[in-house]
Amino acid sequence: MRSLSRALACAVLDLFYPPHCAVCEKPFGDGERAFLCRECESKIERINQNHVCHCGLPLPEALDLCPECARSELVFEQIRSFGWYEEREDPHHVLSTLIKIFKYSGEQALAPLLAGYLAEAGEPLRSLVEQITFVPMYLSDERERGFNQAELLARALGRLWGIPVVRALDKTKKTKQQAGLPREERRENIRGAFGLAKFPPCASILLVDDVCTSSATLTECAQVLKKEGGVERVYGLTVARVAQTNIERMEGT
Ligand SMILES: [Zn+2]
Ligand SMILES: [Zn+2]
Repeated sequence: MRSLSRALACAVLDLFYPPHCAVCEKPFGDGERAFLCRECESKIERINQNHVCHCGLPLPEALDLCPECARSELVFEQIRSFGWYEEREDPHHVLSTLIKIFKYSGEQALAPLLAGYLAEAGEPLRSLVEQITFVPMYLSDERERGFNQAELLARALGRLWGIPVVRALDKTKKTKQQAGLPREERRENIRGAFGLAKFPPCASILLVDDVCTSSATLTECAQVLKKEGGVERVYGLTVARVAQTNIERMEGT
C-alpha cells in the first residue's frame, strides 16, 4: 500500500514538475542521468589529468612543477581536481552551477553525482590513502547551512571506494569567505583556523573539498594534519578548481 501511494505521489510530482536537468532545466530524454542532461554533461570543462603538478594544475610536458610550487614548500603529495570552476555568475557554466546548487540551495541529493566526479579524478590516489577526511566548517556556519558540503562529498566518496571517512579537523576560528580576497589576505585569513580532532592515527590521508580556489585552505589543513596529527602523506581532492588566470583576474579587480 505504501509503495502504491509513493508511486502515485511520484506520478503527480512528475506531472507538475517533470524530471529535468538541474542546469538548463530541459526535460530529460530517455536514459539521461539524474540531475544532468547529456548536453550539459558534455559541456563540463574537465581538467586534463595526464600530467599535473603537485598542486593539481595541468602542466606542459617540459615542466614537472608549476612556478608557484617551484618556489614554495610542498605540503601535499598531490592534489587533484575534476574540472574548472567559474566564480562569476554564469548559468551556462555547468560544473560551477551544479556546485552552487549543491552548496547554496541545499540540494544534498547531488552528492553522489559530484562524488562520482571526485572518484574519476582521484582514481590514481585511491590505493595510496588509508582514510578520507574533509575541510571542516565553523560550527555555527554549519548549523546555519544545515550541512557541510565537503563532508557530504567525502562520505559519498568513502562509500564508493570503501575507505573509512573520519573527522580529522575542526574549524576553530571564524573566517571571511576566501573567494574575492586577494591572495596574501587568503593565507592570513585562514591561518590558525583549524585544529586537530580525534581520529585514528594513519600515515596517509585524503582531504576532500568542493572547490580549490588558491589552495590556501587545503594547505593550512594539510599543515595541521602533518605537524599536529603526525600524518606523513596528505593528498587533496576537489570537484573543481578556479583557474589561475581567474585568480589573477579577481585580484586585479
Ligand atoms: Zn542540461
Ligand atoms: Zn603546482
